[in-house]
Amino acid sequence: MGGPEIERLIGLLARLPGLGPRSARRAALKLLQQPHARMLPLATALAEAAAAVRPCHLCGNLDSQDPCGICTDPVREQSSICVVEGVGDLWALERAAAHQGIYHVLGGTLSPMTGTGPEDLNLRPLQERIEAGGVTEIILALGATVEGATTAHWLSDRLQQPGLVITRVAQGVPIGGAIDLLDDGTLGAALRARRPLG
Ligand SMILES: [Zn+2]
Repeated sequence: MGGPEIERLIGLLARLPGLGPRSARRAALKLLQQPHARMLPLATALAEAAAAVRPCHLCGNLDSQDPCGICTDPVREQSSICVVEGVGDLWALERAAAHQGIYHVLGGTLSPMTGTGPEDLNLRPLQERIEAGGVTEIILALGATVEGATTAHWLSDRLQQPGLVITRVAQGVPIGGAIDLLDDGTLGAALRARRPLG
């Protein structure tokens, strides 16, 4: 079908998250049909991003500057650190404009299944930031999975110190969600996380 270049392109695209072989073929065809409008700008953007973007040595966020734009933002509350599993979670929280402080990206969660232990997580810069003083709040924004819960408990024990408040994001009823459509786990968590009105 058209030579090894096309096969290679489809093969590489098919490895991207959300793109199976069928979507990869469609994307490849679109690119090949518009080399100047789509393909070359994409190639340039990929090369430039690969050369410029690095993990921030303070928080693990991806940025073309180190420390990253969030860590160096003077408006951000440096005293409040939101701990997330991955950069995608940070992006989601930023899209929601839900957190005014800074972040820390763990790069994974503790999991006996995948063999991920504490030594595999990005922990040292977080500990150094806390030890340097000025941090008053740690928000653990980890997933509502067994691994997320295990990691949150482990981190909470590990980071505990006087003057530091450690919280975990609540799980519960989604905005616009109906009670009778929730699964049992979510419903139970929502009930346990109940708060007084007002
Ligand atoms: Zn940073």
